[in-house]
Amino acid sequence: MEKNNKYDVVIGLEIHLKSKTKSKMFCSCLNNTDEKNPNVNICPVCMGHPGTLPLINEEAINNIIKLGLSLNCDISSYTKFDRKNYFYPDLPKGYQISQFDFPVCKDGYLDIRGEKGVKLIRINRIHQEEDAGRLVHADNDVSMVDFNRAGVSLIELVTEPDFNSAAEVINFVKELQLISRYLNVSDANMEKGEMRIEVNLSLKKKGEKKLGTKAEVKNLNSFKSVERAILFEIERQSNLLDKGEKIIQETRGFHDAKQITLSQRSKEESHEYRYFPEPDLPPLEIAKERISKLKGEIPELPQEKRHRFEAEFGIKDKKILEIFIENKKFGEYFEKVATEILDWMNCEKIGESKYFDLIKLSCNYLTSDLIGLAKGEITDFSNKISPENFAEFTILVFKGDINSKIAKIVLKDMYDWGSDPSHVIESKGLKQIDDEEEIKRIIKEVLDCNDSAVMDYKKGKLASFQFLIGQIMAKSKGKIKPDKAREALSEELENIK
Ligand SMILES: [Zn+2]
Repeated sequence: MEKNNKYDVVIGLEIHLKSKTKSKMFCSCLNNTDEKNPNVNICPVCMGHPGTLPLINEEAINNIIKLGLSLNCDISSYTKFDRKNYFYPDLPKGYQISQFDFPVCKDGYLDIRGEKGVKLIRINRIHQEEDAGRLVHADNDVSMVDFNRAGVSLIELVTEPDFNSAAEVINFVKELQLISRYLNVSDANMEKGEMRIEVNLSLKKKGEKKLGTKAEVKNLNSFKSVERAILFEIERQSNLLDKGEKIIQETRGFHDAKQITLSQRSKEESHEYRYFPEPDLPPLEIAKERISKLKGEIPELPQEKRHRFEAEFGIKDKKILEIFIENKKFGEYFEKVATEILDWMNCEKIGESKYFDLIKLSCNYLTSDLIGLAKGEITDFSNKISPENFAEFTILVFKGDINSKIAKIVLKDMYDWGSDPSHVIESKGLKQIDDEEEIKRIIKEVLDCNDSAVMDYKKGKLASFQFLIGQIMAKSKGKIKPDKAREALSEELENIK
Protein backbone atom coordinates (compact mmCIF):
# COMPACT_ATOMS: atom_id res chain seq x y z
CA MET A 1 0.00 0.00 0.00
CA GLU A 2 0.94 3.65 0.07
CA LYS A 3 3.43 3.34 2.89
CA ASN A 4 4.98 6.69 2.44
CA ASN A 5 6.58 8.51 5.27
CA LYS A 6 8.90 10.82 3.38
CA TYR A 7 6.58 12.15 0.65
CA ASP A 8 3.07 13.50 0.31
CA VAL A 9 1.17 12.09 -2.64
CA VAL A 10 -0.66 14.69 -4.75
CA ILE A 11 -3.10 13.54 -7.42
CA GLY A 12 -5.39 15.36 -9.83
CA LEU A 13 -7.70 13.76 -12.38
CA GLU A 14 -8.85 14.42 -15.92
CA ILE A 15 -11.89 12.36 -16.76
CA HIS A 16 -13.62 11.96 -20.09
CA LEU A 17 -17.23 10.85 -20.07
CA LYS A 18 -19.03 9.81 -23.20
CA SER A 19 -22.22 11.82 -23.20
CA LYS A 20 -25.45 9.89 -23.70
CA THR A 21 -26.97 11.52 -26.77
CA LYS A 22 -28.85 10.17 -29.78
CA SER A 23 -26.55 11.84 -32.31
CA LYS A 24 -22.97 13.09 -32.39
CA MET A 25 -21.85 16.48 -31.05
CA PHE A 26 -21.87 18.51 -34.26
CA CYS A 27 -23.74 16.39 -36.86
CA SER A 28 -26.76 14.09 -37.02
CA CYS A 29 -24.79 10.80 -37.23
CA LEU A 30 -25.87 8.14 -34.71
CA ASN A 31 -23.94 7.88 -31.48
CA ASN A 32 -23.84 4.14 -30.87
CA THR A 33 -21.10 2.61 -28.70
CA ASP A 34 -22.23 -0.91 -29.59
CA GLU A 35 -21.95 -0.51 -33.38
CA LYS A 36 -19.73 -3.36 -34.57
CA ASN A 37 -19.36 -2.42 -38.25
CA PRO A 38 -16.66 0.19 -38.82
CA ASN A 39 -17.31 3.54 -40.53
CA VAL A 40 -21.09 3.33 -40.81
CA ASN A 41 -22.01 6.27 -38.59
CA ILE A 42 -20.09 8.94 -40.48
CA CYS A 43 -20.92 11.96 -42.67
CA PRO A 44 -19.05 14.83 -44.35
CA VAL A 45 -19.26 16.94 -41.15
CA CYS A 46 -17.63 14.45 -38.76
CA MET A 47 -15.20 13.40 -41.53
CA GLY A 48 -14.03 17.00 -41.75
CA HIS A 49 -14.83 17.58 -45.42
CA PRO A 50 -14.14 21.16 -46.57
CA GLY A 51 -17.17 23.44 -46.71
CA THR A 52 -19.23 21.54 -44.13
CA LEU A 53 -20.51 23.27 -41.00
CA PRO A 54 -20.96 21.94 -37.46
CA LEU A 55 -24.16 22.41 -35.42
CA ILE A 56 -24.28 22.24 -31.61
CA ASN A 57 -26.14 19.27 -30.12
CA GLU A 58 -28.67 20.63 -27.63
CA GLU A 59 -29.04 17.32 -25.76
CA ALA A 60 -25.28 17.23 -25.13
CA ILE A 61 -25.29 20.75 -23.68
CA ASN A 62 -28.23 19.80 -21.43
CA ASN A 63 -26.26 16.78 -20.22
CA ILE A 64 -23.15 18.76 -19.31
CA ILE A 65 -25.22 21.43 -17.53
CA LYS A 66 -27.01 18.75 -15.48
CA LEU A 67 -23.72 17.14 -14.53
CA GLY A 68 -22.25 20.53 -13.60
CA LEU A 69 -25.25 21.40 -11.43
CA SER A 70 -25.03 18.03 -9.66
CA LEU A 71 -21.36 18.68 -8.93
CA ASN A 72 -22.04 22.14 -7.46
CA CYS A 73 -20.48 24.01 -10.40
CA ASP A 74 -21.19 27.51 -11.67
CA ILE A 75 -22.78 27.30 -15.10
CA SER A 76 -21.41 29.96 -17.45
CA SER A 77 -23.93 32.18 -19.16
CA TYR A 78 -21.35 32.83 -21.89
CA THR A 79 -19.35 29.96 -23.32
CA LYS A 80 -17.61 29.26 -26.59
CA PHE A 81 -15.87 26.55 -28.58
CA ASP A 82 -12.23 26.46 -29.66
CA ARG A 83 -10.13 24.43 -32.02
CA LYS A 84 -7.44 22.26 -30.49
CA ASN A 85 -5.05 21.53 -33.31
CA TYR A 86 -3.02 18.36 -33.61
CA PHE A 87 -2.37 15.68 -36.15
CA TYR A 88 -3.25 12.05 -35.58
CA PRO A 89 -4.59 9.43 -38.01
CA ASP A 90 -7.83 9.04 -36.02
CA LEU A 91 -8.60 12.77 -36.23
CA PRO A 92 -10.00 13.50 -39.70
CA LYS A 93 -10.31 17.29 -39.30
CA GLY A 94 -6.77 17.75 -37.98
CA TYR A 95 -8.27 19.51 -34.97
CA GLN A 96 -10.72 18.74 -32.22
CA ILE A 97 -13.52 21.14 -31.29
CA SER A 98 -13.12 21.70 -27.56
CA GLN A 99 -13.40 24.57 -25.09
CA PHE A 100 -10.34 26.54 -24.00
CA ASP A 101 -11.07 29.57 -21.85
CA PHE A 102 -14.85 29.51 -21.39
CA PRO A 103 -15.94 26.05 -20.26
CA VAL A 104 -19.64 25.37 -19.62
CA CYS A 105 -19.04 24.55 -15.93
CA LYS A 106 -16.50 25.90 -13.42
CA ASP A 107 -15.58 25.74 -9.75
CA GLY A 108 -17.54 22.78 -8.41
CA TYR A 109 -16.91 20.15 -5.79
CA LEU A 110 -17.90 16.67 -4.71
CA ASP A 111 -17.79 15.24 -1.20
CA ILE A 112 -16.25 11.80 -1.01
CA ARG A 113 -15.15 9.35 1.63
CA GLY A 114 -11.55 10.37 2.35
CA GLU A 115 -8.81 8.82 4.48
CA LYS A 116 -10.11 10.76 7.49
CA GLY A 117 -13.86 11.11 7.06
CA VAL A 118 -15.68 13.19 4.44
CA LYS A 119 -13.39 15.05 2.05
CA LEU A 120 -14.22 17.78 -0.40
CA ILE A 121 -12.70 17.41 -3.86
CA ARG A 122 -12.67 20.62 -5.88
CA ILE A 123 -13.60 20.48 -9.54
CA ASN A 124 -11.76 23.05 -11.62
CA ARG A 125 -13.88 22.81 -14.77
CA ILE A 126 -16.11 20.66 -16.94
CA HIS A 127 -16.03 21.38 -20.64
CA GLN A 128 -17.60 20.07 -23.80
CA GLU A 129 -15.64 18.49 -26.61
CA GLU A 130 -15.80 15.78 -29.25
CA ASP A 131 -14.17 12.37 -29.48
CA ALA A 132 -11.64 11.19 -32.06
CA GLY A 133 -11.94 7.95 -34.08
CA ARG A 134 -10.37 4.68 -33.06
CA LEU A 135 -7.30 2.95 -34.41
CA VAL A 136 -7.48 -0.82 -34.77
CA HIS A 137 -4.12 -2.55 -34.90
CA ALA A 138 -4.41 -5.81 -36.83
CA ASP A 139 -2.01 -8.74 -36.49
CA ASN A 140 -0.26 -8.35 -39.83
CA ASP A 141 1.40 -4.99 -39.04
CA VAL A 142 -1.59 -3.13 -40.43
CA SER A 143 -3.45 -0.38 -38.61
CA MET A 144 -6.98 0.57 -39.56
CA VAL A 145 -9.14 3.45 -38.47
CA ASP A 146 -12.81 3.40 -37.50
CA PHE A 147 -14.48 6.83 -37.50
CA ASN A 148 -17.79 5.78 -35.87
CA ARG A 149 -16.62 7.44 -32.68
CA ALA A 150 -15.23 10.59 -34.33
CA GLY A 151 -17.31 13.59 -33.34
CA VAL A 152 -19.19 11.86 -30.51
CA SER A 153 -19.95 14.16 -27.57
CA LEU A 154 -17.41 13.99 -24.76
CA ILE A 155 -17.56 15.69 -21.38
CA GLU A 156 -14.17 16.44 -19.86
CA LEU A 157 -13.94 17.01 -16.13
CA VAL A 158 -10.77 18.35 -14.51
CA THR A 159 -10.29 18.21 -10.75
CA GLU A 160 -7.90 20.18 -8.56
CA PRO A 161 -4.95 18.13 -7.20
CA ASP A 162 -6.91 17.28 -4.05
CA PHE A 163 -6.40 13.52 -3.80
CA ASN A 164 -3.76 11.99 -1.53
CA SER A 165 -4.29 8.29 -2.13
CA ALA A 166 -5.52 5.70 -4.61
CA ALA A 167 -8.49 4.92 -2.35
CA GLU A 168 -9.71 8.53 -2.53
CA VAL A 169 -9.40 8.52 -6.31
CA ILE A 170 -11.42 5.30 -6.58
CA ASN A 171 -14.13 6.66 -4.27
CA PHE A 172 -14.41 9.81 -6.38
CA VAL A 173 -14.50 7.99 -9.69
CA LYS A 174 -17.10 5.48 -8.50
CA GLU A 175 -19.32 8.26 -7.17
CA LEU A 176 -18.97 10.20 -10.42
CA GLN A 177 -19.94 7.07 -12.35
CA LEU A 178 -23.05 6.66 -10.18
CA ILE A 179 -24.06 10.32 -10.53
CA SER A 180 -23.67 10.13 -14.33
CA ARG A 181 -25.90 7.08 -14.39
CA TYR A 182 -28.52 8.56 -12.07
CA LEU A 183 -28.62 11.65 -14.30
CA ASN A 184 -28.65 9.45 -17.42
CA VAL A 185 -25.98 11.72 -18.95
CA SER A 186 -23.49 8.86 -19.43
CA ASP A 187 -23.45 5.10 -18.91
CA ALA A 188 -19.82 5.59 -17.86
CA ASN A 189 -18.76 1.99 -18.47
CA MET A 190 -14.98 1.97 -18.25
CA GLU A 191 -14.58 -1.25 -20.21
CA LYS A 192 -16.51 0.32 -23.11
CA GLY A 193 -14.38 3.45 -23.03
CA GLU A 194 -17.34 5.55 -21.89
CA MET A 195 -15.36 6.77 -18.91
CA ARG A 196 -11.62 7.37 -19.40
CA ILE A 197 -9.40 8.46 -16.56
CA GLU A 198 -6.06 10.22 -16.61
CA VAL A 199 -4.13 10.50 -13.40
CA ASN A 200 -1.69 13.36 -12.73
CA LEU A 201 0.57 12.35 -9.90
CA SER A 202 3.44 14.04 -8.16
CA LEU A 203 5.26 13.68 -4.84
CA LYS A 204 6.54 16.38 -2.54
CA LYS A 205 8.58 16.16 0.63
CA LYS A 206 6.33 15.93 3.69
CA GLY A 207 5.18 19.34 4.81
CA GLU A 208 6.62 21.15 1.78
CA LYS A 209 4.26 23.62 0.03
CA LYS A 210 5.68 23.55 -3.50
CA LEU A 211 4.24 20.83 -5.73
CA GLY A 212 6.63 18.37 -7.32
CA THR A 213 6.89 17.60 -11.04
CA LYS A 214 3.97 15.46 -12.15
CA ALA A 215 3.64 12.58 -14.53
CA GLU A 216 0.38 11.93 -16.35
CA VAL A 217 -0.84 8.33 -16.71
CA LYS A 218 -3.25 7.30 -19.47
CA ASN A 219 -4.81 4.05 -20.76
CA LEU A 220 -6.59 3.22 -17.53
CA ASN A 221 -9.59 1.12 -18.41
CA SER A 222 -10.73 -0.26 -15.08
CA PHE A 223 -10.86 0.79 -11.43
CA LYS A 224 -8.24 -1.85 -10.74
CA SER A 225 -5.81 -0.40 -13.28
CA VAL A 226 -6.34 3.11 -11.87
CA GLU A 227 -5.39 1.82 -8.44
CA ARG A 228 -2.41 -0.21 -9.67
CA ALA A 229 -1.07 2.64 -11.81
CA ILE A 230 -1.18 5.03 -8.85
CA LEU A 231 0.62 2.59 -6.57
CA PHE A 232 3.22 1.94 -9.25
CA GLU A 233 3.82 5.66 -9.85
CA ILE A 234 4.22 6.38 -6.13
CA GLU A 235 6.83 3.65 -5.95
CA ARG A 236 8.62 4.74 -9.14
CA GLN A 237 8.74 8.43 -8.27
CA SER A 238 9.79 7.93 -4.66
CA ASN A 239 12.63 5.66 -5.79
CA LEU A 240 13.85 8.36 -8.19
CA LEU A 241 13.60 11.11 -5.56
CA ASP A 242 15.38 8.90 -3.02
CA LYS A 243 18.29 8.64 -5.43
CA GLY A 244 18.28 12.43 -5.87
CA GLU A 245 17.06 12.15 -9.47
CA LYS A 246 14.52 14.42 -11.16
CA ILE A 247 10.99 13.47 -12.22
CA ILE A 248 10.42 14.19 -15.89
CA GLN A 249 7.11 15.83 -16.82
CA GLU A 250 5.69 13.34 -19.29
CA THR A 251 2.75 11.25 -20.38
CA ARG A 252 2.96 7.61 -19.38
CA GLY A 253 0.78 4.71 -20.43
CA PHE A 254 -0.35 1.92 -18.14
CA HIS A 255 0.68 -1.52 -19.35
CA ASP A 256 -2.12 -3.80 -18.18
CA ALA A 257 -0.34 -7.12 -18.52
CA LYS A 258 2.86 -5.95 -16.82
CA GLN A 259 1.05 -3.67 -14.33
CA ILE A 260 3.57 -0.90 -14.87
CA THR A 261 3.54 2.57 -16.44
CA LEU A 262 5.78 3.31 -19.43
CA SER A 263 6.90 6.64 -20.83
CA GLN A 264 5.02 7.57 -24.02
CA ARG A 265 5.99 11.16 -24.78
CA SER A 266 6.85 14.40 -23.11
CA LYS A 267 3.79 16.30 -21.98
CA GLU A 268 2.52 18.95 -24.41
CA GLU A 269 1.98 22.48 -23.18
CA SER A 270 -1.39 23.94 -24.11
CA HIS A 271 0.19 26.54 -26.44
CA GLU A 272 1.43 23.70 -28.61
CA TYR A 273 -2.15 23.02 -29.64
CA ARG A 274 -2.55 26.56 -31.01
CA TYR A 275 -6.05 26.90 -29.61
CA PHE A 276 -8.18 29.52 -31.38
CA PRO A 277 -11.93 30.27 -31.36
CA GLU A 278 -13.91 27.91 -33.59
CA PRO A 279 -14.83 30.18 -36.53
CA ASP A 280 -17.76 28.00 -37.63
CA LEU A 281 -19.67 28.20 -34.33
CA PRO A 282 -21.04 31.32 -32.63
CA PRO A 283 -20.46 31.67 -28.87
CA LEU A 284 -23.07 29.77 -26.91
CA GLU A 285 -25.13 31.73 -24.43
CA ILE A 286 -26.93 29.75 -21.77
CA ALA A 287 -30.08 31.41 -20.44
CA LYS A 288 -30.91 31.38 -16.72
CA GLU A 289 -34.33 29.86 -17.51
CA ARG A 290 -32.68 26.94 -19.25
CA ILE A 291 -30.47 26.29 -16.24
CA SER A 292 -33.34 26.39 -13.76
CA LYS A 293 -35.47 24.14 -15.98
CA LEU A 294 -32.64 21.57 -16.08
CA LYS A 295 -32.15 21.91 -12.33
CA GLY A 296 -35.77 20.84 -11.94
CA GLU A 297 -35.07 17.69 -13.95
CA ILE A 298 -32.28 16.45 -11.67
CA PRO A 299 -33.44 13.32 -9.84
CA GLU A 300 -32.51 12.29 -6.31
CA LEU A 301 -28.74 11.70 -6.40
CA PRO A 302 -26.88 8.78 -4.78
CA GLN A 303 -25.80 10.65 -1.64
CA GLU A 304 -29.31 11.97 -0.92
CA LYS A 305 -30.65 8.48 -1.47
CA ARG A 306 -28.17 6.98 1.01
CA HIS A 307 -29.31 9.42 3.69
CA ARG A 308 -32.99 8.78 2.94
CA PHE A 309 -32.63 4.97 2.94
CA GLU A 310 -30.82 5.12 6.27
CA ALA A 311 -33.49 7.31 7.85
CA GLU A 312 -36.61 5.91 6.21
CA PHE A 313 -35.78 2.21 6.28
CA GLY A 314 -33.24 2.05 9.09
CA ILE A 315 -30.67 0.35 6.84
CA LYS A 316 -27.43 0.30 8.82
CA ASP A 317 -25.51 -2.33 6.86
CA LYS A 318 -23.35 -0.31 4.43
CA LYS A 319 -22.87 -3.25 2.06
CA ILE A 320 -26.62 -3.77 1.67
CA LEU A 321 -27.16 -0.03 1.32
CA GLU A 322 -24.60 0.20 -1.50
CA ILE A 323 -26.25 -2.67 -3.41
CA PHE A 324 -29.43 -0.59 -3.54
CA ILE A 325 -27.59 2.65 -4.36
CA GLU A 326 -25.40 1.15 -7.08
CA ASN A 327 -28.30 -0.68 -8.72
CA LYS A 328 -30.91 2.03 -9.10
CA LYS A 329 -33.66 -0.24 -10.45
CA PHE A 330 -33.13 -2.75 -7.66
CA GLY A 331 -33.30 0.08 -5.12
CA GLU A 332 -36.62 1.12 -6.64
CA TYR A 333 -37.89 -2.46 -6.42
CA PHE A 334 -36.93 -2.58 -2.76
CA GLU A 335 -38.86 0.66 -2.14
CA LYS A 336 -41.97 -0.88 -3.70
CA VAL A 337 -41.55 -3.95 -1.47
CA ALA A 338 -41.22 -1.69 1.58
CA THR A 339 -44.47 0.11 0.72
CA GLU A 340 -46.24 -3.24 0.37
CA ILE A 341 -44.80 -4.42 3.68
CA LEU A 342 -46.48 -1.46 5.38
CA ASP A 343 -49.80 -2.49 3.81
CA TRP A 344 -49.38 -6.09 4.94
CA MET A 345 -48.45 -4.97 8.45
CA ASN A 346 -51.74 -3.12 8.74
CA CYS A 347 -53.55 -6.09 7.28
CA GLU A 348 -51.95 -8.57 9.71
CA LYS A 349 -52.13 -6.12 12.62
CA ILE A 350 -48.39 -6.17 13.21
CA GLY A 351 -47.33 -3.25 15.40
CA GLU A 352 -45.48 -0.39 13.68
CA SER A 353 -42.51 -0.85 15.98
CA LYS A 354 -41.72 -4.01 14.05
CA TYR A 355 -41.31 -2.14 10.75
CA PHE A 356 -37.49 -1.87 10.79
CA ASP A 357 -37.20 -5.58 11.75
CA LEU A 358 -39.39 -6.55 8.83
CA ILE A 359 -37.46 -4.29 6.46
CA LYS A 360 -34.20 -5.82 7.66
CA LEU A 361 -35.56 -9.30 7.03
CA SER A 362 -36.72 -8.37 3.52
CA CYS A 363 -33.33 -6.73 2.78
CA ASN A 364 -31.55 -9.95 3.71
CA TYR A 365 -33.74 -12.06 1.43
CA LEU A 366 -33.49 -9.50 -1.37
CA THR A 367 -29.74 -9.05 -1.31
CA SER A 368 -28.73 -12.66 -0.70
CA ASP A 369 -31.38 -15.20 -1.73
CA LEU A 370 -33.07 -13.29 -4.53
CA ILE A 371 -29.82 -12.13 -6.12
CA GLY A 372 -28.59 -15.72 -5.74
CA LEU A 373 -31.62 -17.04 -7.64
CA ALA A 374 -30.96 -14.47 -10.37
CA LYS A 375 -27.34 -15.72 -10.53
CA GLY A 376 -26.00 -12.32 -9.55
CA GLU A 377 -28.00 -10.28 -12.02
CA ILE A 378 -29.30 -7.33 -10.06
CA THR A 379 -32.26 -5.54 -11.56
CA ASP A 380 -35.93 -4.68 -11.09
CA PHE A 381 -37.48 -8.05 -10.24
CA SER A 382 -41.12 -6.91 -10.65
CA ASN A 383 -41.65 -9.18 -13.66
CA LYS A 384 -40.41 -12.21 -11.66
CA ILE A 385 -41.90 -11.56 -8.21
CA SER A 386 -44.40 -8.77 -7.67
CA PRO A 387 -43.45 -6.44 -4.79
CA GLU A 388 -46.73 -7.41 -3.11
CA ASN A 389 -45.83 -11.12 -3.18
CA PHE A 390 -42.35 -10.38 -1.87
CA ALA A 391 -43.82 -8.37 0.99
CA GLU A 392 -46.24 -11.19 1.83
CA PHE A 393 -43.36 -13.65 1.77
CA THR A 394 -41.43 -11.48 4.25
CA ILE A 395 -44.45 -11.33 6.56
CA LEU A 396 -44.85 -15.13 6.46
CA VAL A 397 -41.22 -15.68 7.43
CA PHE A 398 -41.42 -12.97 10.08
CA LYS A 399 -44.48 -14.53 11.70
CA GLY A 400 -42.77 -17.92 11.70
CA ASP A 401 -45.42 -19.41 9.43
CA ILE A 402 -42.56 -20.86 7.40
CA ASN A 403 -39.05 -21.54 8.62
CA SER A 404 -35.91 -20.48 6.80
CA LYS A 405 -35.54 -23.84 5.07
CA ILE A 406 -39.08 -23.79 3.67
CA ALA A 407 -38.68 -20.10 2.86
CA LYS A 408 -35.96 -21.00 0.36
CA ILE A 409 -38.25 -23.50 -1.39
CA VAL A 410 -41.11 -21.00 -1.48
CA LEU A 411 -38.93 -18.19 -2.81
CA LYS A 412 -37.52 -20.36 -5.59
CA ASP A 413 -41.02 -21.31 -6.70
CA MET A 414 -42.08 -17.67 -6.61
CA TYR A 415 -39.04 -16.74 -8.69
CA ASP A 416 -39.50 -19.53 -11.24
CA TRP A 417 -43.25 -19.30 -11.70
CA GLY A 418 -44.28 -15.88 -10.42
CA SER A 419 -46.56 -17.59 -7.91
CA ASP A 420 -47.76 -15.98 -4.71
CA PRO A 421 -46.30 -17.44 -1.51
CA SER A 422 -49.51 -18.67 0.14
CA HIS A 423 -50.36 -20.55 -3.04
CA VAL A 424 -46.93 -22.27 -3.08
CA ILE A 425 -47.24 -23.21 0.60
CA GLU A 426 -50.74 -24.60 0.05
CA SER A 427 -50.05 -26.50 -3.16
CA LYS A 428 -46.76 -27.99 -1.98
CA GLY A 429 -48.12 -28.94 1.45
CA LEU A 430 -45.55 -26.76 3.21
CA LYS A 431 -48.03 -25.33 5.67
CA GLN A 432 -46.91 -25.37 9.30
CA ILE A 433 -48.54 -27.98 11.49
CA ASP A 434 -50.57 -26.09 14.07
CA ASP A 435 -52.82 -28.87 15.27
CA GLU A 436 -51.74 -29.85 18.82
CA GLU A 437 -52.88 -33.46 18.45
CA GLU A 438 -50.97 -33.86 15.21
CA ILE A 439 -47.84 -32.44 16.85
CA LYS A 440 -48.23 -34.80 19.81
CA ARG A 441 -48.62 -37.76 17.46
CA ILE A 442 -45.39 -36.92 15.60
CA ILE A 443 -43.47 -36.47 18.87
CA LYS A 444 -44.74 -39.79 20.24
CA GLU A 445 -43.60 -41.56 17.10
CA VAL A 446 -40.14 -40.03 17.43
CA LEU A 447 -39.88 -40.95 21.12
CA ASP A 448 -40.94 -44.54 20.44
CA CYS A 449 -38.10 -44.99 18.00
CA ASN A 450 -35.48 -43.35 20.21
CA ASP A 451 -35.60 -45.13 23.55
CA SER A 452 -31.93 -44.67 24.31
CA ALA A 453 -32.00 -40.92 23.70
CA VAL A 454 -35.00 -40.64 26.02
CA MET A 455 -33.16 -42.64 28.71
CA ASP A 456 -30.05 -40.47 28.28
CA TYR A 457 -32.14 -37.36 28.68
CA LYS A 458 -33.74 -38.74 31.83
CA LYS A 459 -30.24 -39.38 33.19
CA GLY A 460 -29.50 -35.70 32.68
CA LYS A 461 -27.83 -35.64 29.24
CA LEU A 462 -29.21 -32.37 27.84
CA ALA A 463 -27.73 -32.88 24.38
CA SER A 464 -30.28 -35.63 23.84
CA PHE A 465 -33.04 -33.05 23.93
CA GLN A 466 -31.51 -31.27 20.95
CA PHE A 467 -31.10 -34.60 19.17
CA LEU A 468 -34.81 -35.36 19.65
CA ILE A 469 -35.78 -31.90 18.37
CA GLY A 470 -33.72 -32.62 15.26
CA GLN A 471 -35.59 -35.91 14.76
CA ILE A 472 -38.96 -34.16 15.17
CA MET A 473 -37.99 -31.51 12.63
CA ALA A 474 -36.87 -34.15 10.18
CA LYS A 475 -40.04 -36.19 10.62
CA SER A 476 -42.30 -33.13 10.19
CA LYS A 477 -40.14 -31.85 7.31
CA GLY A 478 -39.56 -28.68 9.31
CA LYS A 479 -43.24 -27.86 9.46
CA ILE A 480 -43.49 -27.51 13.23
CA LYS A 481 -42.43 -24.16 14.61
CA PRO A 482 -39.25 -24.74 16.67
CA ASP A 483 -40.59 -23.11 19.85
CA LYS A 484 -43.77 -25.17 19.63
CA ALA A 485 -41.75 -28.35 19.13
CA ARG A 486 -39.60 -27.62 22.17
CA GLU A 487 -42.60 -26.88 24.35
CA ALA A 488 -44.48 -30.03 23.31
CA LEU A 489 -41.36 -32.23 23.62
CA SER A 490 -40.66 -31.05 27.20
CA GLU A 491 -44.24 -31.84 28.07
CA GLU A 492 -44.10 -35.34 26.61
CA LEU A 493 -40.76 -36.10 28.32
CA GLU A 494 -42.23 -34.98 31.64
CA ASN A 495 -44.98 -37.55 31.17
CA ILE A 496 -42.50 -40.39 30.74
CA LYS A 497 -41.59 -41.81 34.11
ZN1 LIG B 1 -21.41 12.83 -38.88
